[in-house]
Order: sequence, then C-alpha cells, then structure tokens
Amino acid sequence: MTELKAYWRNFVGGKWVDGAQGRRITIENPATAEPLAEIARAEVEDVDRAVTAARRCFETGGLTGLRPADRAALMFRIAAEIEVLAEEIGLAECLDNGKRLSDARGEATAAARYFTYYGGLADKLEGRSIPLGAGYVDYTIPAPFGVSAQVVPWNFPIALAARSLSCALATGNSVVIKSPELSPLSICLLAQACERAGVPDGAVNVICGYGSDAGAALVAHGDVDHIVFTGSVKTGQSILRAAAERIIPCVMELGGKSAGIVYPDADLDQAVASTAIGIFSNAGQICSAASRLLVHRSVHDTVVDRLVARAKDLSIGPGIEEHDLTPLISAPQLDRVEAYCLAGVQAGAVAATGGRRVTGRPGHFMQPTIFTGVAPDMTIAREEIFGPVLSVMPFDEPAEAIAIANGTDYGLVAGVYTQDLALAHWSAERLVAGQVFVNEWFAGGVETPFGGTKRSGYGREKGQEALLNYVQTKNVAIRLGSSPGCA
Ligand code: NAD
Repeated sequence: MTELKAYWRNFVGGKWVDGAQGRRITIENPATAEPLAEIARAEVEDVDRAVTAARRCFETGGLTGLRPADRAALMFRIAAEIEVLAEEIGLAECLDNGKRLSDARGEATAAARYFTYYGGLADKLEGRSIPLGAGYVDYTIPAPFGVSAQVVPWNFPIALAARSLSCALATGNSVVIKSPELSPLSICLLAQACERAGVPDGAVNVICGYGSDAGAALVAHGDVDHIVFTGSVKTGQSILRAAAERIIPCVMELGGKSAGIVYPDADLDQAVASTAIGIFSNAGQICSAASRLLVHRSVHDTVVDRLVARAKDLSIGPGIEEHDLTPLISAPQLDRVEAYCLAGVQAGAVAATGGRRVTGRPGHFMQPTIFTGVAPDMTIAREEIFGPVLSVMPFDEPAEAIAIANGTDYGLVAGVYTQDLALAHWSAERLVAGQVFVNEWFAGGVETPFGGTKRSGYGREKGQEALLNYVQTKNVAIRLGSSPGCA
C-alpha cells in the first residue's frame, strides 16, 4: 500500500531542500479538514536560489547544449518515470486536492502524455530560410527565452505543471515552478520524476510558497525572462503589472464562465450527460467548467428535469472512496461558493436542487446545484463560482443564445449541442471562446490548443501552437563576401 510522506521538500538546483527560514506549510485533506502533510515553505531567499540555479543551467547550456533529439529522449524518460510514480502521484493528489483517486491517477497519465507529446516535437521546431537575393543568406532560429517562471493553481496541479514544463524543456528553457500552497504534493513527485530521468541540475526547480510572498517574488525577479500563469484574473492582473516593469512575455491562462447551448434538435441525453460531467467533475473546480447552460425554450423543462435527476443521483464523499462529487479545496472556497448561491436566490433565481453546503460531515462539501430562473445579468450568471453550480437559462432564437453566451467578461470555452452541422459551424464561428466543443464537453486533448479570449487570458497551451509561446524568433541576416568596390 502506497503511503504518503509526512514532510516534503522543495527541489532547487538538483537538490531537495528545506525553506531558507526553516518554515513549513501544513497541507490539509479537504475531505476531512485534517492535516495531511507538511511542505517546506519557500520565501524570497528560496525564490532567488531557484532562479539563480535555473539561470546557471541556462547559461551553461544544461538543456540548450543537448541536441534536440537528446532533449526529446530526456523527456520520454521523464514520462516513463511519471508512469512509475503514478500510484503515488494519484494518491497524493487525491488526498491534498480532494479529487477522485481514479481521476488523480488519470492526471498522472495526462502529465506523462505532455512529455511524450512535446518530447516528440522537441526535434521538429524548425526555423525558416528567407530569400534575400544574391549575396545574402537569411534564416530564423526559434530561440528559448531563458528562465521561465511558472505559477500553478491547485485544481489540476500535476497536469497543469506538466503542460507548461514540457513545452519549456522541449524548447530549452530552464524552469522555476511555484506550486500551489493548497495542493503541492503531486508536483514534488513530478520533480522526482525529472530527477530520476536525469534532468540537468537547475533545469527544473520546484518551490512551494504562498502567492503573496514566494509567488510575487518569483514573477518580479530580475532574472526571470518569461512567465506562465494559470490561475485567477485578479492574480493574473498583478503578475502582468510585475511583468510590465521588465517587459517580459507572459502566457495567461485565467478563469471562465463557459456556456453550453442546447438547440431543440440536440440529443438531449448526450447534452445532459455531457453537461453533468462538465459542471460536477472535480466539484466544478475547473476553469473550463460548463457553468452556464442555455436551453431552447421548447426543451428547457425536460433538460432541467433530467439534470436535476442526475444531480440527485450523485454520491457525495471523499475522492479516495471514488464518490461522484468530491469536496471543494478549502473552507474559504466552500464559503465563497455557498455565498454565491445565497446571492443567486436573493436575486430571484430558483435552486432546482442544491444551493447549500453539505452539513453533518467533516470536509468542504457543496451540494450539486442547479439554478433556473436565472437572468443573464445576475452575478451567478456572470462571475466564475468555481464550484458545482450550474445556471440554466432559456432562449428562443440562436442569435439570442450566442449573445447570452458571449455576454460575460470571460471567453475560455463554449459548447454546442445539435445534430445540425451547419448550425454547429454557424455557432462556433460566433462564439467568443478559445475552444468550442460540439456535442461533448471537454472534447479534445493534449493535441488541441487551449486558452482564453477576453479576461480568460491569452496565449495557447496544448497542441503544437503552445511551443510558440516558449520561443522567440531570432533572425540571422548574412551578407556573403564583399561586394565589388568594398575593401
Ligand atoms: P489564484 O490566482 O489564487 O492562485 C494561482 C496561483 O497563483 C497559486 O499558486 C498562488 O499561490 C499564486 N499566487 C497568488 N497570488 C500571487 C501573486 N500576487 N503573485 C504570484 N503568484 C501568486 O488561483 P487559484 O484559486 O489557485 O485557482 C483558481 C483559478 O485558476 C480560477 O480562476 C480558474 O479558472 C483558474 N484556472 C485556469 C486554468 C486555465 O488553464 N485557464 C486552469 C486552472 C485554473
């Protein structure tokens, strides 16, 4: 039986280290609200050490000195080591994040997949030759930035860390990951997989600390060249301000308030099943959650009835017992989600099911919640709740559905349910979102570009496009020989 360590260290310059101040962060199990483990707390001094190690690795060619095919081989070894650690990764993430054990194991597989996918591309990122005419040779090089700082949220820690780390390593950047203080353990195991695979010292550094000190110090560090941030809009804005001081590029993967549209010809079973997965998986704590559903008035009541029946059927309990609906990450997150629901009722929405926290048990469990009678301008229809809360709204005309779907500050993903391919295309063209799902929420994978529009951020992760965020084009323009008349 796999057991978790009681104390976890940071990984800096190829070594496992305590925090410079010797302090620790206690990690809680959200299903029980009891302490689970401790992790070394990184503070400003630790950030500096990690960035220095990453810089040294970059300057001494730790990764860039490897032939691209050898970097690819290194990444395949990381993937294999993640698979070896998959049981432990699954348990760690099930217990510190709260999600289902099978989902957490699946996340380990997804993390490994990022390394095989981008490992396969490490030797295929090519420059161009640009014709300038006789006497000149001109070409481009996709050059790494240097030190990439990657700040990761708590909802899918290892998958999101692997998503950015794999691209950075494939392109020769050194990395400092700031893991989420609420659920950092699986990322320690990702660092262990990198160590076992033989990554050069300093190529991958993982530090866990609070956002307000370690996170802020990392993104403001003078030796960081590139930032990847996945998290909330508010934190993204503060990171962008820090990046603006030094004019460094950022990838911003922020929040969402994504809408599915159910047209009257849709396969309603498919739409209902897909929406339930989209909003209740990981207790709704997914940036691309299906948090709004716009349903044609002719099928509205049928869809609501079926969704409510599904919600009532969900088992609620710890992820380690494979329940359908697992806890929220923390007590403040539960307070926040419940407060949104109470505000929704106050504004006139009707909780067709749920709307309150689960009482009488430890842990941070929220009832699966479906609101009807929601107006598009209500707070619950506009703001990201990040819990198992769905707002259902009726519409009459496709153009009206598109207008409601596009009517928030966010634009991460959207969904369409219809048998009519022309209507699906028409809708996909008009929906303002980085990705549009047709007839299956979360369709796509590591191969498909993902990212936001509007306040959901910019830059793309996943797919081949993502690699372009990790390199900058250098042009080399060469004059051959000397022209007649020149010395
Ligand atoms: P958050 O912004 O509070 O924290 C994210 C990370 O930023 C954490 O590691 C935190 O320690 C760090 N941080 C906090 N303040 C910081 C600062 N001032 N400087 C630097 N780092 C700082 O977000 P969260 O609550 O952990 O995650 C939930 C949010 O993440 C939701 O809005 C969700 O939609 C979003 N998210 C987006 C994606 C995506 O790919 N678009 C994926 C997952 C989550």
